[in-house]
Amino acid sequence: MRIILFGPPGVGKGTQAKILSKNLKIVHIATGDILREAVSRGTGLGNKAKSFMDRGELVPDDIVIGIIQERLKEHDARNGFILDGFPRTLPQAEALDKVFDKLGIKIDRVVSMEVDKEVLMNRLTSRRVCRNCGSIFNLLVDKLDDSKCKKCGGEIYQRDDDKRETIERRFEVYQNQTKPVKNYYSVKKLLVEVDGIGKIDEVTSWLKSAVK
Ligand SMILES: [Zn+2]
Repeated sequence: MRIILFGPPGVGKGTQAKILSKNLKIVHIATGDILREAVSRGTGLGNKAKSFMDRGELVPDDIVIGIIQERLKEHDARNGFILDGFPRTLPQAEALDKVFDKLGIKIDRVVSMEVDKEVLMNRLTSRRVCRNCGSIFNLLVDKLDDSKCKKCGGEIYQRDDDKRETIERRFEVYQNQTKPVKNYYSVKKLLVEVDGIGKIDEVTSWLKSAVK
């Protein structure tokens, strides 16, 4: 089973990718992780990537794709994989297809976790963090009657990342970037859309039936 997984920031895509990878016995290829791994192992492409990261620049597509290609060639990826965090743009999707062709790989499904913007917004803006111990709470679930951490009594606050404007901006960027990519896979009849809002195990079962 070879899957590409999409989802807006904050929907729990990484968590689901990890669970699916275990359940389906396929490797989880998270672009961020394999990039960091290539850098720490000091591979040729890893060193190239590092020079961009050190300057605070985005790693160019051809380097990221090269690192993905190397990862796909490893033995454990032969049984299948779940690609998480890539491609994000149309040129990336097209370049990735060239790699798949080269390696004789056929993608089975491209799964997009769909969410209602307001529901996601409501969930994410309810997140609070303890300044003292770093525990994460959600006001929709955890009753924090005196605005203090339930574990240590520390002061809780809302991170800038969880503020409405920030989430809205990231969501818009995601929607605009992925629209053409989803369309690309939809034309190829690979795209499946799955409801991304639910309990973790609910979403997992929806995703599993979508890739069957
Ligand atoms: Zn605390």
